[in-house]
Amino acid sequence: MSIRPECLFPLFAPLTSLKGVGPRLGKVIEKAIQGNMIRDLLWHVPSDVIDRRAFPGIAHAEPGRIASFRVTIVEHLPNHTAKQPYRIRCCDDSGEMTLTFFRAKAEYLSRILPIGETRLISGKMDIFHGMRQIHHPDYVLTEDEQDILARLDTIYPLTAGLSSKILSKSMRHAIEKIPDLPEWLASTQITQNQWPAWASAMRDIHLPPEDISVKEYIQPDSPTRQRLLYDEILADQLALALIRQKQLQKPGMARQGDNRLISQLLQKLPFTLTKGQQQAIAEIIADMAAPKRMLRLVQGDVGAGKTLVALTAMLNAIEGGWQTALLAPTEILARQHYAGIRKLLAEMPVEIALLTGRDKGKKREKILDALANGEIDMIIGTHALIQPDIAFQNLGFAVIDEQHRFGVSQRLALSEKGRAVDVLVMTATPIPRSLLLTQYGDIDTSIIRDKPPGRLPIQTIVKPLERLEEIITALSRALAQGTKAYWICPLVEESEKLDLAAAEDRYAELQTLFGDQVALVHGKMKPAEKDLVMSRFSGKPLADEDMATSKKQRDLLAENHPKTEANLLIATTVIEVGVDVPAATIMVIEHAERFGLAQLHQLRGRIGRGQEQSTCILLYGSPLGKISKARLTIMRESNDGFQLAEEDLRLRGGGDILGTKQSGLPTYHFGDLDHVLPLLEIARKDAQICLQNDPDLTSERGKALRVLLYLFGKDQGIKTLRSG
Ligand code: ADP
Ligand code: MG
Repeated sequence: MSIRPECLFPLFAPLTSLKGVGPRLGKVIEKAIQGNMIRDLLWHVPSDVIDRRAFPGIAHAEPGRIASFRVTIVEHLPNHTAKQPYRIRCCDDSGEMTLTFFRAKAEYLSRILPIGETRLISGKMDIFHGMRQIHHPDYVLTEDEQDILARLDTIYPLTAGLSSKILSKSMRHAIEKIPDLPEWLASTQITQNQWPAWASAMRDIHLPPEDISVKEYIQPDSPTRQRLLYDEILADQLALALIRQKQLQKPGMARQGDNRLISQLLQKLPFTLTKGQQQAIAEIIADMAAPKRMLRLVQGDVGAGKTLVALTAMLNAIEGGWQTALLAPTEILARQHYAGIRKLLAEMPVEIALLTGRDKGKKREKILDALANGEIDMIIGTHALIQPDIAFQNLGFAVIDEQHRFGVSQRLALSEKGRAVDVLVMTATPIPRSLLLTQYGDIDTSIIRDKPPGRLPIQTIVKPLERLEEIITALSRALAQGTKAYWICPLVEESEKLDLAAAEDRYAELQTLFGDQVALVHGKMKPAEKDLVMSRFSGKPLADEDMATSKKQRDLLAENHPKTEANLLIATTVIEVGVDVPAATIMVIEHAERFGLAQLHQLRGRIGRGQEQSTCILLYGSPLGKISKARLTIMRESNDGFQLAEEDLRLRGGGDILGTKQSGLPTYHFGDLDHVLPLLEIARKDAQICLQNDPDLTSERGKALRVLLYLFGKDQGIKTLRSG
């Protein structure tokens, strides 16, 4: 085990070690910065700055702009009613103005603005009834505190309950803790770009140098920002290169089947594979047969039939005597894969098992034993599959479905459960090549461009929410004709609780209209209950052996649900990935403008899976912003995920159209994707060269690079190194 270098200790100290930050404030800051260490606070980069350095003098200040003033307090004019402001007259050599306050205590105001004394005031000056005034100044300072106004004033992205002032104060204490770290970048690169050292870049971003202009400061390619962003990218690329280096050191394994299972499966299928599926399968099987470790990504739009590709490849491995694993991001999806695959492989000599977080105690033990002694050929499951105590007899092939839901460490955790495991990852989100590098380093890709024949393109309609009643009328007609439909509820301020409330309200309303054929599924439901609802909607009965809960528990649950089939499923985004109910041909998405493009496309992919024409109705709240409008228009005009992604890249710049966060593309603290891309390739080469010269990172620079890895928490990369 290597140990975190001492020079990083100050950064890895808890927030509460900062002066003035107790457990309460600590929690609030933690929420705002998504981390609990001083390092995380320092990574919380200002979103804007205000220039308060100009002291124009009262008479010369431009109304409506922020400026600072050195004034003498002349007179206090307390208010008589709560509706009036408390006024304070003050002056400088050039003129006079009033400071106004609502709901402030007289005692407090006399203390901070005593008559006859000089104070520094900063805020927006306006003209009101011909008088110059500042309403609630941003700063009231004594002359000793002058230096606060000597720099650009940093504004931080905030969450409720935390003011910029309080955060800035804690930040100032955090800045004092910034240590000098050894330089991990090449000196040529530093001089060429005139980059500052890490510590001074870190300081300058929070405490702008006195002489810097707003324009220079916010410039995304300023040396300071570029340096910090490059560090972050390099840490990423170096960790990936280390993992790759380690994998290359271990020999790969040639895996080959004899086609006996695959041919049985293909015979049973009621359709033939598409060209894209055939090609992807051929590429995977060739990779497996080669004596190197496979890492391949299959990209294919929703509904392209990736599952079958994965299944065929797994059978190839099983024929060769290897165990296989399929990792899915959600319980619903894992169960669906399990049920679907079992049906396809019925009567074939393949032992399949399901393992999810719901399997506990004896049942889990039994599965674990069967995995360890090789009885199970194919295990399908969720994160539960990568728990440390899970061991295989000879895992040879692993599939990760909807890869964007998993991180590098989870992928590694699974592949490390076997020897030279061949890994297949699958995604419906098209990822540009340059971005793939950030997540995987070198990876081979197969793209399925075609879709199974006979599918009608989904018709997409965009309507304002005001037309809700019309939509409901049309929906009732469709339901009367036996159609099944999804109703996706809006995202509310990234709060699961509010999302749920919105869904429950909609459910109650639609239930009064449509009765028991309406069902509700959401993320807060117990898995067994989700199953029950999904099975009411899909019309597929729950098989006893699929269930982790006892029959008695399920009967109890079922008492609270109607026995009849459900035709209208109200859902939060839990159904986003993978769910396959071909009979559903209508989807209504409420407040579609709140969803990212990738997410909308994924959601819409739940329909259009059968032979019937499907319709997706995107309801938006008015007024619709420019970017949201562009997004919905693209959705209406295109059914093709690849085209959607390209359009998105073209349109980007106005904002995060694809919804980078939702689609699982990498995000960085110190810059957005537009600025990441040009640095990526440089960082990748840099990392490669570093490792070529110094594979164990033991040179002077190598040791500094270890510090960089620790700084960014790249423990997976560090673990590949011997301590040194
Ligand atoms: P995805 O690529 O989104 O994971 P799935 O693997 O879930 O897609 O497949 C979607 C549906 O298409 C499934 O019902 C599957 O049985 C069906 N399917 C897959 N391949 C074909 C094919 N070649 N012809 C017809 N239907 C197919
Ligand atoms: Mg799928």
